[in-house]
Amino acid sequence: MSGDREIDEILQRGADGGRITPEEALLIYTDAPLHPLGEAADAVRRRRYPDGIVTYLIDRNINYTNVCVTACKFCAFYRAPKHAEGWSHDLDEILRRCGEAADLGATQVMLQGGHHPDYGVQYYEQLFSAVKAAFPQLAIHSIGPSEILHMAKVSGVSIEEAIRRITAAGLDSIAGAGAEMLPDRPRRAIAPLKESGQRWLEVMEIAHRMGVESTATMMMGTGETHAERIAHLAMIRDVQDRTGGFRAFIPWTYQPENNHLKGRTQATTMEYLRMVATSRLFFDNVAHLQSSWLTTGKDVGQLSLHMGVDDLGSIMLEENVISSAGARHRSKLTELIWMIRSADRIPAQRDTLYRHLRVHRTPADDPTDERVVSHFSSIAIAPSGVAATR
Ligand code: SF4
Repeated sequence: MSGDREIDEILQRGADGGRITPEEALLIYTDAPLHPLGEAADAVRRRRYPDGIVTYLIDRNINYTNVCVTACKFCAFYRAPKHAEGWSHDLDEILRRCGEAADLGATQVMLQGGHHPDYGVQYYEQLFSAVKAAFPQLAIHSIGPSEILHMAKVSGVSIEEAIRRITAAGLDSIAGAGAEMLPDRPRRAIAPLKESGQRWLEVMEIAHRMGVESTATMMMGTGETHAERIAHLAMIRDVQDRTGGFRAFIPWTYQPENNHLKGRTQATTMEYLRMVATSRLFFDNVAHLQSSWLTTGKDVGQLSLHMGVDDLGSIMLEENVISSAGARHRSKLTELIWMIRSADRIPAQRDTLYRHLRVHRTPADDPTDERVVSHFSSIAIAPSGVAATR
């Protein structure tokens, strides 16, 4: 088969819901013309979501500590134990932030933090149970496999016991955080002290088998090859074939400021959009595809809605981790809705389970609360409510 005919056949098969191999995914990622690639991916979205709805979420990313022993080279957020800029928020401050989020209509909190040397399972039990008791309306979609491995190690318990105890305390689902790049070579280059990609997936698989679902992410643009990006997708798809526990795939682009990775370049807009479309065609077993307007910008986020994306993610009432590394895009509820509608889609607020809470079929249905705005802090600005440093 000639190259063009082979690409056409792969795109058609993917658009029709057929499975494409990793080798075929690499071929279309690198060689398919952009418009046919995007059209094929958008055909998948239309078949899965014929109502034309694109969802968004109101949530707040609350960081309990920036103290971390894992020292990932790409991370601008963490501080080593005993660093003068290390901080931890006490429970009152975390609950205050949850309360603000609830007042603004948030349905989810993402509690994330560094691998603090003292934080074992008991810390997370206390944190999640306090948030759940005070704000039962907030889904706790939080932490990731890296935090679970860390807390299990600190407490000397199994992965299963850690997951059982923190879900009993209130954790609803696990964030896809910490996936970065899963294949060994690029992962070791950017996060040598972090668990392997295989171990990250093992924790997800254990959680899925225990009935705890999650999302999956990919951070692209730290020097990995195209083939390694596709290998990352294949590793996730293999687990999903066995568990079905990944609700969504969320690719985002590495942000290059204030970290220890020197000389790396970000993924380009074209690479990002091609990855969005390729992943929609490749993940025949993952329901939702979310784009990352925070890292790529709102214009690219809006373009992605024509390349297979069905979810624009969160307004992010607070985000500190990726913004510390240079992501400066902000939005607000009314703008996010406008972005979706002007891309010729129907906006709808969703919850953590992707259920539609409010469908805005016409502008008359739109919320008008101008207080629902993205807030980002910077490593240059001391966070409020700092309870302790170490
Ligand atoms: S990415 Fe997470 S684990 Fe890595 S250094 Fe930053 S806070 Fe620590």
